[in-house]
Amino acid sequence: LAETNDRYLEGLNAEQRRAVEHGIGPDGTVGAPLLVIAGAGSGKTNTLAHRVAHLIIKGADPRRMLLMTFSRRAASEMTQRVERIARRVLGDKAGIMTEALTWAGTFHGMGARLLREYAESIGFDPAFTIHDREDSADLLNLVRHELGFSKTESRFPTKGTCLAIYSRCVNAQAPIETVLGQHYPWCSGWADELKQLFACYVEAKQKQNVLDYDDLLLWWSQMVSEPTIAQEIGGRFDHVMVDEYQDTNKLQAAILLALKPDGRGLTVVGDDAQSIYSFRAATVRNILDFPDHFSPRAEIVTLDRNYRSTQPVLAAANGVIGLARERFTKNLWTERHSARLPRLVTVRDEADQARYIVEQVLANREEGSRLREQAVLFRTSSHSGPLEVELTRRNIPFVKFGGLKFLDAAHVKDVLALLKFVENPRDRVAGFRVLHLLPGIGPASAQRILDQVTVMADPISALAALPTPPRAGQDWTAFVETLANLRYSEWPVDIERIRHWYTPHLERIHEDAEVRLADLLQLEQIASSYPSRERFLTELTLDPPDATSDRSGPPLRDEDYLILSTIHSAKGQEWKSVYALNVVDGCMPSDLGAGTTAELEEERRLLYVAMTRAKDDLHLIVPQRFFVHGQQARGDRHVYASRTRFIPDHLVKLFDRQIWPAAAPAARATPSQAVQMDIRERMRGMWR
Ligand code: ATP
Ligand code: MG
Repeated sequence: LAETNDRYLEGLNAEQRRAVEHGIGPDGTVGAPLLVIAGAGSGKTNTLAHRVAHLIIKGADPRRMLLMTFSRRAASEMTQRVERIARRVLGDKAGIMTEALTWAGTFHGMGARLLREYAESIGFDPAFTIHDREDSADLLNLVRHELGFSKTESRFPTKGTCLAIYSRCVNAQAPIETVLGQHYPWCSGWADELKQLFACYVEAKQKQNVLDYDDLLLWWSQMVSEPTIAQEIGGRFDHVMVDEYQDTNKLQAAILLALKPDGRGLTVVGDDAQSIYSFRAATVRNILDFPDHFSPRAEIVTLDRNYRSTQPVLAAANGVIGLARERFTKNLWTERHSARLPRLVTVRDEADQARYIVEQVLANREEGSRLREQAVLFRTSSHSGPLEVELTRRNIPFVKFGGLKFLDAAHVKDVLALLKFVENPRDRVAGFRVLHLLPGIGPASAQRILDQVTVMADPISALAALPTPPRAGQDWTAFVETLANLRYSEWPVDIERIRHWYTPHLERIHEDAEVRLADLLQLEQIASSYPSRERFLTELTLDPPDATSDRSGPPLRDEDYLILSTIHSAKGQEWKSVYALNVVDGCMPSDLGAGTTAELEEERRLLYVAMTRAKDDLHLIVPQRFFVHGQQARGDRHVYASRTRFIPDHLVKLFDRQIWPAAAPAARATPSQAVQMDIRERMRGMWR
């Protein structure tokens, strides 16, 4: 390797190159901590990938690298990119090297793996199962009922709110009073009850040997607060690297510091202007405080050239983020010139919004741009509903990232619950879900059965020894047999077996059983790509695959489909054309928050993240009427909307304003004021 040249670094600019080469001694020693802080599209992720490849080429051991990004998808993209770079120097050896890059994934995923490995040294049963948010809410709800809070107190916070409060306390490491005061003032009166609830919830999780998402970080940070374990784990990794560092929280920062107390070998990369995860208690402070945390100070690299977007797209994005109250990263510049301004398109309603997008997407395809080079972004998963309908009607395939996942579908969850129950029969949420499927077993008897068996050493055998419940009959026998079989069957035949057991229930419960069965086939296919039941359950729970419109199977790699994504899930990615839905007040910013300055600022950054995903072509769409899915008392309703306040009048000139469809059909209700304004502006513009 010694005689390799560094040609692969030539495409980088001077600052990027400085980051790539920082602190790498000729003898493979690692240097001071490194922070790369820069705006969107400036090549942060690209630089990180080059750094990983460079390290490997210079002889660093990829098995001793811990690489954390925000999704499993991002991690595997990173690995592929590293391989491509390394291949130019190492040839076929590159593949072997990057395959050894196994410690790449999300914080939660890496935490789950380390916790399983070190479970026993912290007095923990390594056979734990992981609860996703819905499971967690279910367990909290169960505890809530047991404590009687929901019965006597009808205005007690919902299970979702309870979970959100709990999660924030854990992730921000803040006392409940503070969290309630700052984010849930309307729940402040319940502090004592909530404390009691959370204490019982924690106890229930321990008894059932389940961890929720927050536990993965919490237990991990607890584990490494033990110096010997921290040294042991920290010592396994020469390099710890984190992308999207602006979205980490206190627990995550504490974990990094525990692993690398002096910061040697630590690289973090991020952009404070893209911090959008404060609801998980992410704090920009992590990135801003990073340099001073170490002595001597961490090396800081800032990048100011954007390679992603054309000048007009970048100018509009800079305009929006330029109004932010606080910002560390500077404005970016680009050499990608273009005459095409980003569009600000007024449409009548969400149906027209969907039609506009279909028209544009198809026109782009005519011009040779593939569907996959185009993405539709939205604030909340439910916002893409009308578009999904239109796409389906027009036979345009799409894949949806973020929000409601394939795995959230009831039937898929049923099947996974059975698997989880076999894996960890003390998991009551899973147990309840499967027992409840059997005819003749209601909630009360399901709980009773679980009470009886979960305390036994071998709950599954205990279950088999129970007398058949009166009205369950045949179904009970089939259930007990399936459980026994699954226990000893070899992976990955499990799902097929479950499918046989589950089909009659599915047909009884759901009218569209056929479609749902197709999903289970898809699940079977996904399962076969995992080495074990435990890995399958862990990784699926933590980072589920994306939902597709194609119900017959997962999309093939070379198939063409449009991308639909929440803005949160679009982080770090880029497309030729980007369409942002509902760029209106009430949606961006959302009117569901408490409306504090900090919340508004985060909403502004969210729009900035959306806009900076576009390379050539950006469409911000402003429907004048849009549908709000009701939160509690407010109910579902249509609301009249106007352009987001984040694009005030003086920024409008950065856009090409359009009304779609161009020729408004006659005999419509009076156009709203926004339209009238728009038209008047256009008329004047004609003579300018
Ligand atoms: P984000 O903040 O959105 O995560 P980023 O800073 O991580 O963005 P990248 O995704 O790494 O940016 O890069 C954006 C685009 O610019 C990519 O298409 C990348 O290939 C390209 N790029 C980065 N650096 C260079 C370079 N030196 N020369 C040419 N293209 C580059
Ligand atoms: Mg990036």
